[in-house]
Amino acid sequence: DTFDELGVSAKLSAELGRAGITKPFPIQIATLPDALAGRDVLGRAQTGSGKTLAFGLALLSRLDGGKARPKHPRAIVLVPTRELAMQVSDALTPLAKALGLWCRTVVGGMSFSKQSDALRRGVDLLIATPGRLSDHVRQGTCVLDEVAFTALDEADQMADMGFMPQVRAILDLTPVGQRMLFSATLDGDVQQLVTRYLHDPVTHSV
Ligand code: AMP
Repeated sequence: DTFDELGVSAKLSAELGRAGITKPFPIQIATLPDALAGRDVLGRAQTGSGKTLAFGLALLSRLDGGKARPKHPRAIVLVPTRELAMQVSDALTPLAKALGLWCRTVVGGMSFSKQSDALRRGVDLLIATPGRLSDHVRQGTCVLDEVAFTALDEADQMADMGFMPQVRAILDLTPVGQRMLFSATLDGDVQQLVTRYLHDPVTHSV
């Protein structure tokens, strides 16, 4: 299998190749065709499985060709921790740049006003922790009315950390669009999230 064969654009495949990533991992083989076809995806996957590129390549393909650097994000990735936000940003920012797209990160413990300034300069893809994104939404420094793609990463950890009220509030503010959810476990709060916010998802466990 190659990324090309899974439906990833030549430009993105070339950029992956530059980073030495040429053979898709099982989670990517399982989810990318469905995700690129616009389906909602539920993935049971652990850290290290390659889930970041599974949802990342799907959302970058979705954003590719759109008007770059809009004032309101068109894709959001919600993650439980600042550290994971930085990892996702490190993985996706070079790919976004190659497509001429702008990636921003908003997490707690960092300057709110610097984040607001960055968002004002334009954002295609926003990577965020739920608490800080809720603050930006409340302050009006981030508006979610153009979000067409949402990825929820490590949903079970977001639940364990008490973020479910913020996650639900954020999802309630985004247009339905396409959604992908990844979690190591799928019970309780995570299952409720799936039932309420994912539409007829294809489920993959790796
Ligand atoms: P993740 O589970 O998304 O945190 O990815 C774990 C690690 O695998 C990261 O360092 C990725 O850069 C790397 N990775 C993801 N997909 C591939 C791939 N298809 N080929 C080689 N490395 C990959």
